[in-house]
Amino acid sequence: MTDSPSSQSADLARRTSEAYDAALEVIAAVEPRVAEATRAELADQRASLKLIASENYASPAVLLTMGTWFSDKYAEGTIGHRFYAGCQNVDTVEALAAEHARELFGAEYAYAQPHSGIDANLVAFWSILAHRVESPALEKHAVKNVNELTEADWEELRHDLGNQRMLGMSLDAGGHLTHGFRPNISGKMFHQRSYGTDPETGLLDYDRVREAAREFRPLILVAGYSAYPRRIDFAKMREIADEVDATLMVDMAHFAGLVAGKVFTGNEDPVPHAHVVTTTTHKSLRGPRGGLVLATEEFAPSVDRGCPMVLGGPLSHVMAAKAVALAEARQQSFRDYAQRIADNAKSLADGFLSRGAKLVTGGTDNHIVLLDVTSFGLTGRQAESALLDAGVVTNRNSVPSDPNGAWYTSGIRFGTPALTTRGFGHDEFDRVAELVVDVLSSTTPKTTSAGAPSKATYTLEDGVVERTRAASAELLDKHPLYPGLELT
Ligand code: PLP
Repeated sequence: MTDSPSSQSADLARRTSEAYDAALEVIAAVEPRVAEATRAELADQRASLKLIASENYASPAVLLTMGTWFSDKYAEGTIGHRFYAGCQNVDTVEALAAEHARELFGAEYAYAQPHSGIDANLVAFWSILAHRVESPALEKHAVKNVNELTEADWEELRHDLGNQRMLGMSLDAGGHLTHGFRPNISGKMFHQRSYGTDPETGLLDYDRVREAAREFRPLILVAGYSAYPRRIDFAKMREIADEVDATLMVDMAHFAGLVAGKVFTGNEDPVPHAHVVTTTTHKSLRGPRGGLVLATEEFAPSVDRGCPMVLGGPLSHVMAAKAVALAEARQQSFRDYAQRIADNAKSLADGFLSRGAKLVTGGTDNHIVLLDVTSFGLTGRQAESALLDAGVVTNRNSVPSDPNGAWYTSGIRFGTPALTTRGFGHDEFDRVAELVVDVLSSTTPKTTSAGAPSKATYTLEDGVVERTRAASAELLDKHPLYPGLELT
């Protein structure tokens, strides 16, 4: 078995090349432009310095698993209990994905059907509502399911389901839209309040979380983030949840690879502390695009009803790929990889700090580095575009109490999972910091017609794009993506 895209044997790499060549020929016979775009995507991914914190490179084994006839099979229901005939092979792969997930994360129960992180969160929300709100109502009315309720009782239950509270991390502190924010359905379903970080340190302040929880008394306390560069003490979060009778839900979409790789243990591992844990499988976990829900025995029966409660037919080909990726994540080599992700983030952060740049929270202890670009006189939008011009792929992000708002922002989020998969180490990440600082120092906002600095447009000093692209190419050539994979 391969443990990473960069460690395939020469023979396996040759056969992978043949497999992709054949596949692209078959595709080209129907729609050559799709085959061409697929080739171009590989070339682009190989040639760019990918620092997007939520992206990675899955192994050929994971990618190949997704391109099969499992895609054609409907399998609504759960393992061994489907609404369609002929699901024995889907049962096999879903059970394998769940078994690997349970054993890898030490979870009592795992559900492999969610199609994405958003879907995993929806399953979690509705499972918690089903367990905490719907089940007691059914018990109170002495009925087994909602169809047996009278119209009046049903209306009362619908009202109760739609009037629950959620407390999650604020967006500008690094929380995610699905944690109760209005543009997302979670913000329409729940009354939401958020907790932020300490204005001085940028760190999560558990006393403030406790205070907000005591005042707001949420049904669900959400922990987890998309852009917070630090670890969380989940034992403390559980203590807070218990104090106000809330359910602790942790969204570990970003850092699941660090949990799987045992970089986060004890209080930093959410699984022993949370009632329900959700994740994506494609970020630091390095699997196919998809979601996963882990739960305690108590919540398992309601999570198990994710389909049809929230989801349609599961993506069986992706569940099969999740099983392969989770099997990879159980290898010692994945633990080494996860440790390197965190070590490399420190190298990148130190590289920025030693060159005078400002970081949110002053550093990192996970896979994320959040650079405050105001010290370069730029908005996040300008910095993101200037870096992209120079072949450095990142994304702009709010910083706490962002003066430039959520569109222009003042930050750039960097992540180390993808380039760590390519084999980058300390020296390479230090060089990346040098290149980024060079580009940002060479970028100047244009002036608007009103004489103010623009938030969007900028000029780049001559030569910076060329020298950055050349330096990146040198780094990337030393650490090829999918080494040995050659398309004809
Ligand atoms: N949760 C968190 C914390 C995320 O960062 C993301 C995606 O960026 C999601 C959920 C949603 O995942 P997906 O894009 O797979 O729906």
